[in-house]
Amino acid sequence: MTTKRDYYEILEISKSASVEEIKKAYRKQALKYHPDKNPDDAVAEEKFKEAAEAYEVLSDQTKRQRYDQFGHAGLGANHGFGGFSGGMSIDEIFRHFGDIFGGGGFEDPFSSFFGGGRRRSGKTVHKGSNLRVKVKLTLEEVAIGVEKKIKVNKYISCSTCRGTGARGGDAYQTCSTCNGRGQVTRVTSTFLGQMQSTSTCPQCGGEGQVITDKCHDCAGNGVVKEEEVIAIKIPAGVAEGMQLSMSGKGNAGARGGLSGDLYIQIEEIRHAHFEREGNHLLYDHFLTFSDAVLGTTIEIPTIEGKAKVKVEAGTQSGKTLRLRNKGLPSVNGYEGKGDLLVTLHIWTPKNLTKEEKSLLEKLGRSPNFQPDPDSRDRSFFSRVKDYFE
Ligand SMILES: [Zn+2]
Ligand SMILES: [Zn+2]
Repeated sequence: MTTKRDYYEILEISKSASVEEIKKAYRKQALKYHPDKNPDDAVAEEKFKEAAEAYEVLSDQTKRQRYDQFGHAGLGANHGFGGFSGGMSIDEIFRHFGDIFGGGGFEDPFSSFFGGGRRRSGKTVHKGSNLRVKVKLTLEEVAIGVEKKIKVNKYISCSTCRGTGARGGDAYQTCSTCNGRGQVTRVTSTFLGQMQSTSTCPQCGGEGQVITDKCHDCAGNGVVKEEEVIAIKIPAGVAEGMQLSMSGKGNAGARGGLSGDLYIQIEEIRHAHFEREGNHLLYDHFLTFSDAVLGTTIEIPTIEGKAKVKVEAGTQSGKTLRLRNKGLPSVNGYEGKGDLLVTLHIWTPKNLTKEEKSLLEKLGRSPNFQPDPDSRDRSFFSRVKDYFE
């Protein structure tokens, strides 16, 4: 014989505890040792079962009296589910006691597993799978946001049978095997007492209903594959690799099940002029040597049209000009717009005439043409640091 712990001790209550106190104590214990909270913890699982057994006895007036009078012996080997030692699964405990966790007043972070619809009703609901699509965007589209219409080949609810899978939408009836519960319970007698086991109804596959005449359009599945055009609103400022989701826009679930979600993966089309760095745009502009020396005004492209920029006389190659707010908006909005960073390069000519060469040679010997490594103009080397820190 195994030695069993005292039920009052298990629930940490006094012998005179009220029904409400017993309930409360059991909730506390069940929550503490819940298998979802203690995954793969055999000790916790035992304690969880132990608490369920204690509650099963103490919440029953007759059993509690017998237990009070005769202890464990008073209940015999056959009480309730008959021997918790392996007889009752965690799921069965939920089915038996799930209702004390449901309802109001039970505030806990694990309420999703207590009395959740799935466990309590036991019925099988088919959820549609999620869909993934890729959307390619130009930087111009990223700059202002865009609505894209995307063709998606997906399962949609069959209109002929209104998603039921049954001909005419009503050729089904409540499953006679499980009476619509979706589960069947078997009770077998063993030397430990009566063992109860619950499983998915084999007749209806857990749906609680059986189709008597299948819909021809969807072969009883309630869904058909079709191309759907989905309009996707893409906010400004998105970037390569970001994912948007539209709940319920994925595949429809079989026979009235919930639809899955649609995930939209953002891809950027490489721009002819700009590189993107976060919300900043980078642009390289090439100057003639004489323009760099004498100064000029250049015209550069921006994401929203052209802009004129002044280049100072004596500009060094590699200098970066910053055009505030000419970059991309941030996707969250509160960071403000990025900038357009124009890096100036000096174009070095390769093919010169004899005359040009001799002119350059003459100029090159001038003291004014000698590089000054100590000049402050060299500070452009830190331009990346300046702009991105
Ligand atoms: Zn149909
Ligand atoms: Zn059934």
